[in-house]
Amino acid sequence: FLANMSHEIRTPLNIVLGMGELLAGTELDNAQKRYLQSLRFSGEHLLKLIDDILEFSRIESGSVDVELRPFDLKAMLVGVEAMGAHLAAEKGISFTLECDPSVFMNRIGDSGKIKQVLLNLLGNAIKFTDKGSITLSATDLCDYSEGSVLFTMSDTGIGIPADKQQVIFDRFMQIEQGHLKNQTGVGLGLAISHRLIRAMGGQISIESEEGMGSSFSVKLPLPKTAGDDASGDRARERRVRTPEP
Ligand code: ADP
Repeated sequence: FLANMSHEIRTPLNIVLGMGELLAGTELDNAQKRYLQSLRFSGEHLLKLIDDILEFSRIESGSVDVELRPFDLKAMLVGVEAMGAHLAAEKGISFTLECDPSVFMNRIGDSGKIKQVLLNLLGNAIKFTDKGSITLSATDLCDYSEGSVLFTMSDTGIGIPADKQQVIFDRFMQIEQGHLKNQTGVGLGLAISHRLIRAMGGQISIESEEGMGSSFSVKLPLPKTAGDDASGDRARERRVRTPEP
């Protein structure tokens, strides 16, 4: 029912958004531009809400298909880096990717779901950080059979009070954080991420201090593909900043 309804709602909504885009390309006075911006913002928010509700209900009904396939972890992280740099620049903060070179070996996992989780954490970090920086690090935990990788998204944002740090993984949970109460979002992102990570055999944890920032860590088993060799990747991987020893 939800899947059908979501399709019925998405189609006209996409038309509304498409028309908004066309309208934005026409000549408008300042007031009209403001109205249109508000209309597009709300439309996109609604679309995201529908996507999240649909995805959450799919997960809750037990149908999460984890597709284990070889994929290029480096390409994925570089894509997340591009997005992070762009969004951070828009807010006047910095974004850095720090990686162990061996992380870049080809891995076996569900790249779509991993990217979804990282982009969700990135979106939150951007949303709740007004000054300072965001860092995504990827560390090879060197447990050879599992090939575990630890991804950590750290920000210098508003932080999360200690007594709220576990409930944020519950559905529709948003914390009242001063002026940020009515931020975009519905409190489904972390609930979805948490469930996806669990389905992939991983774990998520958080460290945060109010006013100082937050750090979300995701540990995932991502076995290396047979015959892959780190030395080639090490030679190739100069562009991405590595942590200082
Ligand atoms: P939302 O759609 O509201 O972002 P999430 O499930 O992704 O939903 O997050 C739930 C709540 O956890 C957020 O509303 C916010 O209160 C808090 N939160 C998540 N990430 C951060 C962060 N990086 N810094 C501060 N608060 C955060």
